[in-house]
Amino acid sequence: MILSNFFIKTQKNISSEDISYNAKLLEKAGFIYKNSSGIYTFFPLGWIVIQNIIKIIREEMSNIGALEMMMPALVSKQIWQTSGRWDVEIGYEVKSKDKADADFVLGWTHEEVISEIFSHFINSYKDLPLAMYQIQTKFRNEPRAKSGLLRGKEFIMKDLYSFHSSEDDLFAYYNQVALAYQKIFKRCGLNSIYTLASGGAFTIANTHEFQVICGAGEDEILVCSSCGYAENKEISNLKPGDKCLKCDGIIKLEKSIEVGNIFPLGEKYARDFNLKFKDKNGNENYVIMGSYGIGVGRLMGTIVELFNDEHGIIWPKEIAPALVYLIDIDKKIEAKELYNYLQNKGISVIYDDRDLSIGEKLQDADLIGLPYRLILSPKNKDLIEVKLRKDNKIKQLSKEEVINLIVKNNENIK
Ligand code: ATP
Ligand code: MG
Repeated sequence: MILSNFFIKTQKNISSEDISYNAKLLEKAGFIYKNSSGIYTFFPLGWIVIQNIIKIIREEMSNIGALEMMMPALVSKQIWQTSGRWDVEIGYEVKSKDKADADFVLGWTHEEVISEIFSHFINSYKDLPLAMYQIQTKFRNEPRAKSGLLRGKEFIMKDLYSFHSSEDDLFAYYNQVALAYQKIFKRCGLNSIYTLASGGAFTIANTHEFQVICGAGEDEILVCSSCGYAENKEISNLKPGDKCLKCDGIIKLEKSIEVGNIFPLGEKYARDFNLKFKDKNGNENYVIMGSYGIGVGRLMGTIVELFNDEHGIIWPKEIAPALVYLIDIDKKIEAKELYNYLQNKGISVIYDDRDLSIGEKLQDADLIGLPYRLILSPKNKDLIEVKLRKDNKIKQLSKEEVINLIVKNNENIK
């Protein structure tokens, strides 16, 4: 990305309604624009981050045999009535202008839609198991949409649904998804805690959440400081200071953000939509389902909540919109050459060739928060100044050393 041909508008002042770091920093650094409370636009820089997260999700979903598809956002009244969720307050009703009553609710989850679809395509045990996911905008009437990407009225979710011939098969897959989710969050730079959470009328057992410890979180978990066993406070009988049930560790109470949630649904939606299969003996049974969500935008917000300092964002490598921020003190041909060289090696670079003062560029570099900042200076032609955003350490290195440092260390990140 060459900035004179790109769109980056960093801001000095932003609205004060949002108190969270992610809202403030992402807006200030030009990643997102707030259209209204809980509703955001992703600018190119922000959209690259979302795409980087999605790439990780797609790879890990593919590793557990899940297939990507895309369902509609407009979900008909009849479908919600079939499951008894037409009146759920979180939904936004949609009606055409010439009608008094709504015909649709904007999809805030898709168990109903996918169950109706596959009731036409799953007939036999040979059609099972099946796992399908989508990455889609969801709409929820969230009264507390004040924490940037953490809680939107409109937000990007990855929702996966799986179909099985037995509970054993469901739970085996459920555990595979749990491992895949932890890998996804790890690659995003986050340590996620697998947390026992409430079950409900729609599940056959407790659900599990993936919680990231963070002061900005709305959730509270009781977590063992030794083995990491955790329960959501809403359902837990544990108290801070208790001995862990699984080891000798001590339980602590932590604030956290739920980045993912998985649900063993059982037969609930299969019964609603008459989703049945014939087993090996020719008997008809209801399909056993699971559903599994990741908040893609919330994940991006969580990363910013955790990785920042007084100067701006500090992106983990695999998520960063680029690896290198390149500045030249004096516009010289060498900067363009280094840019081309690194780009050709698969290292993504933002080259700040804008007509701005060096001070402004340095400020933007810190605010935008790429892992490496390189400065070419005419005073010191043989050396390049390298700053690691992670610890703000500055070194003077030769071009070969810079290339070694960046190319060799990032071969797995393209
Ligand atoms: P919460 O308890 O935080 O309201 P939820 O349990 O209702 O979330 P799910 O239906 O489990 O959410 O959705 C799957 C994932 O989508 C959540 O784990 C979360 O990461 C994300 N998510 C849910 N609601 C929002 C929202 N309003 N804004 C952004 N992400 C969200
Ligand atoms: Mg949840």
